[in-house]
Amino acid sequence: MNRFHSTARYKLMTPGPTQVLENVRMARSLACTNPDLDEEFVEFYKETCTLISSLLHTKNETLILDGEGILGLEAACASLTEPGDRVLVLDNGVYGKGFADFVSMYGGIPDIYHASYEHTLDVSALAEYLKEHHDYKYAAVVHCDTPSGMLNDISKICPLLKQYSILTVVDSVSAMFGEYIDADAFQTDILCGGSQKAVSAPPGLSFVVISSAAKEAINSRRTPIASFYANLKLFETYYEDKWFPYTMPISDIYGLRAALDNIASDPDMLKRHAAIGSATRKTLQAAGLKLYQQSGFSNTVTVFNVPEGISVRDILEQMKQKHRIMLAGSFDEFAGKVIRIGHMGANATVSNMTETLGALDDVLRGLGVKLQEKLDEYFLHIVRES
Ligand SMILES: *Cc1c(COP(=O)(O)O)cnc(C)c1O
Repeated sequence: MNRFHSTARYKLMTPGPTQVLENVRMARSLACTNPDLDEEFVEFYKETCTLISSLLHTKNETLILDGEGILGLEAACASLTEPGDRVLVLDNGVYGKGFADFVSMYGGIPDIYHASYEHTLDVSALAEYLKEHHDYKYAAVVHCDTPSGMLNDISKICPLLKQYSILTVVDSVSAMFGEYIDADAFQTDILCGGSQKAVSAPPGLSFVVISSAAKEAINSRRTPIASFYANLKLFETYYEDKWFPYTMPISDIYGLRAALDNIASDPDMLKRHAAIGSATRKTLQAAGLKLYQQSGFSNTVTVFNVPEGISVRDILEQMKQKHRIMLAGSFDEFAGKVIRIGHMGANATVSNMTETLGALDDVLRGLGVKLQEKLDEYFLHIVRES
């Protein structure tokens, strides 16, 4: 274990958790005040929330919740769903489908709209479907479905749903800050993010960005919210009352703030993600590897099929043992079939990717894969041209 070491055991190139920069780790070691009693902390919390809203180009209120990314998704569903509510679950990936569980758990009736896991959600097909079926309180949409690297176009999907007054819960945990978001223009209602993906803080926090329409829906419920920890209404007057529903994890929030300040002072972040995502895809394809998807490529993660006869486990183990780099396999129906490279947040630098692709080149050739290009060299060549 590396619990007493200051450097990481492996270079994380996974699609979350991602690498945590030193200034973020240091911020987590600052002296703590009592976050329940010190009003300055309430100001700091609110400022940090406002910073998230401004980075996402919205006037909607952000709340930071004390729980890993999943808490935001559950809190959105718990707070909106009343028994008997019909909810449209857009399923073109593992997380997309997973929303059905949260909807059912809080008494809602999920209607699963299934679409290909290899393609970005076809917005015109959804528009056709909605003509006949639009009696939903809200819809759950995943921005980047990480197990397959699927990027859905929330800039079109959310406004389309809004035409039928369907609210949207958007899981952008693994896309936010690596893909462009204008929450006001996209008309998201509850937009969910997490600390451990492109934000590049450790896991532990989620945040939700809530529209006034979502607040109205929460406030006009006929039944109480069947949760305490996942109840967004409890935060309604936290600022006026200087009171949080539970003690805030102050060190985590110090770390998050440092990570958000890093993002705010990095005007090229999205451009860099786009260049690295594109060069990574081109490199793998030029070498003869196959990307899992046919369309909808997120610039935060690349997913490729493991060549016939090679095991995911062997690749991942050799990357760790020989090169001290951690990549990820995947889960659910993708288990054992694909490898995922997470190039989001602090992972998304040319040097991290060059090192990773050089190591991957070595491991794949060692396992007998015939690559048609030298991965790191090809990548550098492409990314320098962009
Ligand atoms: C990482 C992630 C989450 C957060 O949950 P995990 O516990 O890390 O799985 C939620 N949604 C998506 C799309 C994610 O990639």
